[in-house]
Amino acid sequence: MTEHANRPSAGTTSTIEEHIVRVRRRLEQALAAAGRAPDAARLLAVSKTQPAAALRAAHEAGQCAFGENYLQEALEKQQALADLDPEWHFIGGIQSNKTREIAEHFDWAHTVDREKIARRLNDQRPASRAPLNICLQVNVDRETGKAGTDFEALPALAESVLTLPGLSLRGLMAIPAASEDRDTQRRAFQRLAEALTRLQERFPEAPLDTLSMGMSADLEAAVLEGATLVRIGSAIFGPRTTS
Ligand SMILES: *Cc1c(COP(=O)(O)O)cnc(C)c1O
Repeated sequence: MTEHANRPSAGTTSTIEEHIVRVRRRLEQALAAAGRAPDAARLLAVSKTQPAAALRAAHEAGQCAFGENYLQEALEKQQALADLDPEWHFIGGIQSNKTREIAEHFDWAHTVDREKIARRLNDQRPASRAPLNICLQVNVDRETGKAGTDFEALPALAESVLTLPGLSLRGLMAIPAASEDRDTQRRAFQRLAEALTRLQERFPEAPLDTLSMGMSADLEAAVLEGATLVRIGSAIFGPRTTS
């Protein structure tokens, strides 16, 4: 196991269950406040740095989709939890030398921001598996050094991903610049939602149904702007000491 995975969890089984109940309630309330259907967004539990036992506790509380950022750590947890067979989402940065294992071992990749990575994931996706679900990551605040494509490059990137049979282009993902101001949070998510709408208009046949946005601190703003998949870590598993 990696050093991350060995660190004791902040949450015991019962606190993880309690946290999941609380986050599900937050999600329900946010959806209701937005006038959206109760099942219009689902919860991805972000389990980076958490030991397999913490994911097992979350699974017992009904959580079936997990997001992981670090490949080696994720592969170890996948082995330890093979009996549960949850849905695995890769949400960390993707370098070329990681694409094979991501293509072989995950159901979703949220952080595709260039064609080269998309092509490798496509070429390496096993024929025996359903296409890998893809979100294109967008650098919504145009932050220097941050992962994600520009809005301007999105249509061409989407068009090329749509030609790849091993991939299913599901939508967009963003990690906006941190802000405690609800309106600032909402504006960033709104830009992503508008970009998805433009892609849906341009590629009406594409299965573009996903906005992967919202974390522990900004779930409500993301749901108001149309998030369909919120990625929640610390509100479920407790604070992390590393990223
Ligand atoms: C860590 C992480 C999250 C979860 O963040 P929390 O603030 O702990 O909810 C969501 N998305 C990505 C890409 C992350 O790396």
